Amino acid sequence: MQETIAEVLINRPSKHLNRTFSYRIPETMKGAGVGWRCVVNFARRKEEGIILSVHEEDTSQLSYKLLDILSLVDSFPWFTDEMIRTALWISSYYMCTLIDALRLFYIDKKAVKTKITYTVNWEKIEKEPVEDIEGLVDRSVDSLDDKSAALLFGDRLMEYVKQNFLIKKETLAAAHKIPLEKWIVPDRELTDKEKGRSRKQAELSEFLKAHGSQPVSRLKEKGFSTALIHAFLLNEYGHAVYHRKETYSLITREGEKKEKTLTEEQEKAVKALCDSIDRKAYEGFLLKGVTGSGKTEVYLQAARHALEEGGSALILVPEIALTSQMTSYFASIFGDKVVFMHSGLSKGERYNNRMRIMSGESPIVIGSRSAIFMPFKNLRLIVVDEEYDTSYKQGETPRYNGRDAAKVMAVIYHCPIVLGAATPSITTYYAACQGKISLLTMKERVFKTPLPQIHVCDLKENPPIDRSGLISAPLISLLQKTILEKNKAILLLNRRGFATTLMCSSCGHVFKCPNCDVSLVYHKEMNRLECHYCETVHPLPGECPVCHGTRILYLGAGTERIEEELADFLPEARVRRFDLDSTRRKNSAREILDDFRQGKFDILFGTQMVAKGHDIPGVQTVGILSADSILNIPSYLAAEQTFNLITQCAGRAGRSRKQGEVILQTYNPSHYVIQCAARQDYESFYKQELRYRKLLEYPPFARLMKITCFNEDEKKADSQAARIHSWLQSVIPRLSGNVKCTAPFSEPIKRVRNLYYISILVKGKSLTSLKNAMRGTPLFEENDIIIDVDPL
Ligand code: ADP
Ligand code: ZN
Repeated sequence: MQETIAEVLINRPSKHLNRTFSYRIPETMKGAGVGWRCVVNFARRKEEGIILSVHEEDTSQLSYKLLDILSLVDSFPWFTDEMIRTALWISSYYMCTLIDALRLFYIDKKAVKTKITYTVNWEKIEKEPVEDIEGLVDRSVDSLDDKSAALLFGDRLMEYVKQNFLIKKETLAAAHKIPLEKWIVPDRELTDKEKGRSRKQAELSEFLKAHGSQPVSRLKEKGFSTALIHAFLLNEYGHAVYHRKETYSLITREGEKKEKTLTEEQEKAVKALCDSIDRKAYEGFLLKGVTGSGKTEVYLQAARHALEEGGSALILVPEIALTSQMTSYFASIFGDKVVFMHSGLSKGERYNNRMRIMSGESPIVIGSRSAIFMPFKNLRLIVVDEEYDTSYKQGETPRYNGRDAAKVMAVIYHCPIVLGAATPSITTYYAACQGKISLLTMKERVFKTPLPQIHVCDLKENPPIDRSGLISAPLISLLQKTILEKNKAILLLNRRGFATTLMCSSCGHVFKCPNCDVSLVYHKEMNRLECHYCETVHPLPGECPVCHGTRILYLGAGTERIEEELADFLPEARVRRFDLDSTRRKNSAREILDDFRQGKFDILFGTQMVAKGHDIPGVQTVGILSADSILNIPSYLAAEQTFNLITQCAGRAGRSRKQGEVILQTYNPSHYVIQCAARQDYESFYKQELRYRKLLEYPPFARLMKITCFNEDEKKADSQAARIHSWLQSVIPRLSGNVKCTAPFSEPIKRVRNLYYISILVKGKSLTSLKNAMRGTPLFEENDIIIDVDPL
């Protein structure tokens, strides 16, 4: 008998389940196929799975009985063909299981919360005091429904069981929007409610469509509450647009802001992109445009073209919370055709946005790296802004780089991809120089203002004049001048907290984290010590635990310290700190930037967050307090990152009419990175850096992979790394690709969260043959190994 068989991948993160299992698709679920999420019986449990392929087969000859798919999770295929292909690439390139890659496309790790069954051990109840509740419940035996469980267990036990073993009912209900058993294909459009939009929100949308942009007060008169307006904005735009006078102003479809007349350079770039969009084929571009050359406008015009052609566009930005200006500009032009995807959204918001993308209602998607995992309809353009930015790389498995995955997507979707930057990564610029991607350049700022003048301040000749060692006399006088002229300044220091090291002045004891091999950072505002690695907090010690001395030195100044020093030297200046600590609250980053734009304070200082693409009028001065602290990071990318950060940060100054000024403080004024950055000479920097990369065999001349073993027991990590090392040495001679590996080495911070980390760095012209050899080798199936392809 011919039957329809599905190959199903089980959604369980096990390296041993990296294969599919066959299930029968029953008649009632005929519509289901590749990409659908389903529920199946697997190893006597209900598990969620994903259908990866479907075929017809004569099952009468089979010696065993195939199980049926029990139900379907959604009323549509969650995965498109392109999404599955992207996931396949991620799993094969980054060496993770397919389910790890596919889960990136989920809103939640599991779509169906499988109800855990529980039962009671009556014998135990009779013999032991009820206090030992945990021992009474066995999660694996029979299942009971809530009501009968409550009858059997009594209230207290039931509460315990609920908290520990049962998923909340509402979550379950939300996961099964359509009852699983009664699954049917909907033959009608989804109602607003099903789309997750309330009736009132729909009314508001209609009202705005009919009447255009409205002040909030008017909407309130009409009976729309502030909460509703806020929810609506989040729903429609992914964020509420915050404007002057502390009111929310609504931006409707028509848009309030006018698009701009393009400069000649912009025009050329836009034309090249639009032509490419028309060709419906993969093509790679690098848009290399100096800071302030108007790259955003190029992206916008190209996205508009994709939209007019009935397609969609994806625009990736490194940190969307910091790009409020760009997002509100796009929202003002495209209205509800644009959605924002980022980690700051709730699951509900993300789910709604995803549905808008899938239905084609919102074909323009702006987001951080995870925005690549959306069900794009007819994707015609991908933009990766600030392509060199390290936040595109995910720090946990799967350790993918959003920029590189986006390149593969462009091939899969047959569309152009634009990598944009003022200072492209060496690898990307090399690809452009080799003709692998097309180069578009914009050399002039929109307002023709020259790039800011960068003064290198040699701290050996101009020693810092403050107690923290952060601020030199030339910097102070430039800041004084800035304030006097009623302009604004930005200061960058790449260290959070008040002091990065506390040391006892009598015995030299350094206060270290008990779990990690790092010193604790003193945070003055919270008045406590924090570990930036394991995130534990500790009270400020009154005395040294070793010698009981009470004079404790605060070394290594961080951002909090700048505040104090500025207050001493520039008592009249209004200053605000901008770092992870001061922006934890939702929207606080946006509020600080808005206040700065509106002139509510004069100096914005903080970590590299201050350097991102902000376009704030009146910023004439930029101070980079310690260029050396970035140069010293232990990575082959240190030089590139320093050059980029200096350029990026300097690029905030003098963007409109008047040339800006930058002071770059360093103890290494003759370092080639500092020299090139000071002259804004990307080409020389590139040439020099490329020479080093070639000499030392780093990307783009080699590919890298880092294999890391970790363990509570240092010896175990060592011996595991030794086993991997000898395995590598035994296979490397028969691999193609000129593969080499280092001996095992301890990470710069050897112990984090009480785990020891030992790594091996692998290099090669190509790592494909090595990856193939590693796959299926038991050594790499163990869980205490991290494989990082293209590590940073
Ligand atoms: P980049 O990202 O290249 O550093 P932006 O895209 O932020 O530069 O643009 C810099 C400034 O120039 C912004 O304030 C933008 O609104 C403005 N701008 C861009 N293009 C034009 C144009 N064609 N005409 C007028 N202003 C423009
Ligand atoms: Zn720690």
